[in-house]
Order: sequence, then C-alpha cells, then structure tokens
Amino acid sequence: SSTGTPAPSVSIKVNSPNVRYTETSIESDYYYDKTVVSLDSNGTYNAEPTKVHYQFRTRTNVGKVGLMLVGWGGNNGTTITASVLANKHHITWNTRKGVQEPNYFGSVMLSSTVKLGVDENSNGVFVPFKDLVPMANPNDIVFGGWDISGLKLGDAMNRAQVFPYDFQRQVYDQMQEFQPLPSIYYPDFIAANQGERADNVLPGTKQDHLEKIRKDIRDFKTSNGLDKVVVLWTANTERFSSIIEGVNDTSANLLKSISESHEEVSPSTIFAVASILEGSPFINGSPQNTLVPGVIELAETHKSFIGGDDFKTGQTKIKSVLTEFLVNAGIKPIAITSYNHLGNNDGYNLSAPAQFRSKEISKSNVVDDMVEANNILYKKGEHPDHTIVIKYVPSVGDSKRALDEYVSEIFMGGLSTISIYNTCEDSLLASPLILDLFMVAELMSRVEFRCAPNDSVNINEVKYEPFHSVLSILSYMLKAPVVPPNAPVVNALAKQRAAMENIMRAFIGLPSSNDMMLEHSAF
Ligand code: NAD
Repeated sequence: SSTGTPAPSVSIKVNSPNVRYTETSIESDYYYDKTVVSLDSNGTYNAEPTKVHYQFRTRTNVGKVGLMLVGWGGNNGTTITASVLANKHHITWNTRKGVQEPNYFGSVMLSSTVKLGVDENSNGVFVPFKDLVPMANPNDIVFGGWDISGLKLGDAMNRAQVFPYDFQRQVYDQMQEFQPLPSIYYPDFIAANQGERADNVLPGTKQDHLEKIRKDIRDFKTSNGLDKVVVLWTANTERFSSIIEGVNDTSANLLKSISESHEEVSPSTIFAVASILEGSPFINGSPQNTLVPGVIELAETHKSFIGGDDFKTGQTKIKSVLTEFLVNAGIKPIAITSYNHLGNNDGYNLSAPAQFRSKEISKSNVVDDMVEANNILYKKGEHPDHTIVIKYVPSVGDSKRALDEYVSEIFMGGLSTISIYNTCEDSLLASPLILDLFMVAELMSRVEFRCAPNDSVNINEVKYEPFHSVLSILSYMLKAPVVPPNAPVVNALAKQRAAMENIMRAFIGLPSSNDMMLEHSAF
C-alpha cells in the first residue's frame, strides 16, 4: 500500500452502453472517425467520413510490477529511485527557502489533468491523467537494474550532485541498500572517458551476456514476487550501430550475430533482445539506434513491447511546441539554431564525436512532420536550417543550459527572431519521464483490441490482439519516436498528448476530447 504522493486517486465510472465493467477488465466499444480522402480526375479532393468499430479490453489488475534500469547508477537512475523513495515515505527536506515536500511534478501521468467532461453548468471537470484507466502506482514500483559502475546507489546519488545535501542525507541509507548488477561494457560504443567508472562489467561472450541479462530479469521477477518487469535504458548514449545486411537486419540474423559476438551488436541491443525474449517491455531512453530492424522483428514475433528513442525533455520539447505553433500560425521558420552546454556525466560522454552524433540525429528530425504538412510555406523537400551544438562545461554540473534561436519569415518578407535561454536541472526534467514511460508501457501490456474494418465483418468473430509491439503511444515522452514499420512519425507535442489521452478515453468507451465548446455557443 502506498503513502504520500501521487495525488489522491479519483474513481471514474462511465455510464454508457459502450462500456462493460467485469471482475477483471473494462471492455469498450469505440467508433473511430476517419476521413478518407481521394483526389479525383477534376483535381477535387473527395473527403468521406467513415467510422471504424473497435473494441478494447483492459485488464484492471495491475499486479506487482518491477522496473529495471540500465544505467541505474547514473544521474537519472539515482534521481528517480531516490525521488520515489521520498514520495513513498514522505521524506521532506530543508532548503534555504524552508521545507520542501516531495512531488511528481514533470510527470504528465502523475501531475497533469485531463478534461473528463462538463458538469451540469457546462463547466469542465478535470481529473488526474493517471486515473482515466487503472495504472501502476509509482510508489509501489520495485526498482532494480544494472550499471557498469558498481557504486551502491547512495554513493552514486551523491556522485550525481543533483539533490541538495539535506535530501541526500535522509535517503542515503535506503539508497545504499541498492547495488547495480554487473553490466555489459563494449568500450567502442560509449566515450573512452567512461572507462574510468567501468568497474562492474560482465566477462564472457555476447551470447553469455544475453543469457546473463535474461537470467537477471527472471531472478529479479521471482525473488521479488513480481507479475511483470519493465526494462528501461537510461545508460550512456552509445554510438549508432551500422545496419548491415546479414548482421542486424532480421531477428534471425541478429540472434546469429550475438552468438558470434559480432562487433556491431551494442550493449543496448542485447538488453532489448533479452527483454523481448523474457516478455518484458523495453524502452530506450537514449538516442542511439538500439531498436535495429532485427530487434523490431523479434519484438513483433514475440508480441513483446518496445519503445524509443531518447527522453524528450527541455530543448526538444520546446522545439516540438514552438515549431508547431509557428508553422500552424502560417509563419515559416527558416533557421533553428540550438546550443547546449552541460557538465554532468551525460555531457562528458557526449563530448566524444560518435556519441554526440547520436544525439544530433535524435534532435534533428523533430520538426520534419510539421514542415512536411505545410506545402504553402515549404516546397517539397525544403527544410529550415537546423543546427545542434552540445558542449561539455564541467562547472555547470547537472544544470543544463539550452540556447535557441528561431528565425522565421513573416508577412511580406519580414523576419521574426525568437531567442530562448533555458536553464534547468537536467536529471529532474528527465526522471519523471521514466515514470510516464513505465506507467504507459505497463498499461499497454494489459490492453487488447479488435476491429471490424467494415460492416461485413462481425466484430465478435474477430480475435483480440495486443497493440503493435512498437509503442508509438509513448511518443510524447520521446525525442525521436520509433513507430511501427511504415507508420508516420508525429513529433508535435500537443498531438502526441491528444493521442495518448484519446486512446485512453477509448479504453473506457468515451469519445475523443475536443475543444469545440459548442455548449457555450448558443444564447
Ligand atoms: P549518466 O551518465 O549520469 O548515467 C548513465 C549511467 O549509465 C552511468 O552510471 C554509466 O556508468 C552507466 N552505463 C553506461 N553504459 C552502461 C551499460 N552498458 N550498462 C549499464 N550501465 C551503463 O547519464 P544520465 O544523465 O542519467 O542520462 C542517461 C541517458 O539518458 C543518456 O544517454 C542521456 O543522453 C539520456 N537522456 C538524458 C536526458 C536528460 O535530460 N537528463 C534527456 C534525454 C536523454
């Protein structure tokens, strides 16, 4: 049972023929509105509204869940573990401004609300996002994980220099009880400077590593009596893996390459494969291409969940809001120039060219969908200049700086320049996203659906299936969302949030939310 935050839960019951509550699940009917458009020979767009019937079935029992972090001893890993302890045990600490209470600010599930509907006076009724559908309570998570640095978590938290002393002091003993398991270290994949902390590494071949990580997941599950384990990579950014025919392009080739210790198989890919084979959802919080085609195929075959890439926190989150605003206002961004400097271990690792390159790639594509959707402002293939610079400045520590300049073309050839300076504790931005990713991935592992693509199909004869292995619903939290093969990527933040909210509304038989406010339009 949980104490402390998160915000107290509200319970929601939908009264509708579209929803059935059983002992174990919520079943819903949902009619998905889709407008199918075709261009006729006269050059006219013909738009045809259609409805597609879906049924969702959400198991309501969350069970006991574990979260294993790869890179547990890093800034994010220690920050989230200590924060959950503080929330769970309601640990408060003194700052120069007074007593600070723990909270879950920065988690969209735990600290934001959604409009459930309107009351009898047509005023909005808002509920915590986490209460739309039954979800895991973060305070009940059993934490575990791996790190190539063997420091116990109390010492690792102090090394991270994220929390003030009075906080560190109070959670230290509990944190010291956690020790990361030895991990996979292939020096070629992360910056050479990380060798300094790699004192907790597994011996053996890549096949040995795969089997050991699988065993770690199984052992963690049994020794803690868990129903489910989610694995999340929050370890160092690796260099990209080359996608090579015969090596990592198919699941069979990837498994063969692991058995041969092929040099292009990265540690993160081994963790992804181990998680998939153990049926544990795997999420990649770093920019590298862990989810190579062979991993995606393996996840599809095993109907196991994967998500990635790279937590979307400060600069990119703002970019996915600001660019959408500008382009949707009919204003044309022509140059986006982004500088960062940071002084934590992530910055130290990113000071090496190959690891910086991974970050540069994951930060680069974030405006593509918005630019491509507007052929009034941009000709086909035209793109704003987009530059990304990251520098390591040790003295700023975890307090990351982001400087951004957006130059846009406005009315009649005018120019508008917006300049943004953001300074923020990096790990305090990223860590709550770990909980969102965990909570949504865990939820999706309890949901199945079926669909009648047209009227001639009787939905009751269609088999329930889980969602596609690649969880694009996690896109809101991710900088470079991986989506199912051939699906379009959506980067715009508001759309990503609306998708997450509306999908969860569908699970409880509610229509998509909208802001038409028609109830306020009549006299
Ligand atoms: P960090 O360097 O403090 O922590 C990473 C940890 O991973 C270290 O303790 C390191 O020893 C460990 N590690 C490295 N290789 C490993 C391996 N193969 N197995 C197990 N452990 C390994 O970094 P952080 O600030 O916690 O960030 C973690 C990741 O999240 C980085 O890739 C970073 O780019 C990404 N990220 C962070 C943010 C943010 O705002 N903090 C945003 C987006 C993405």
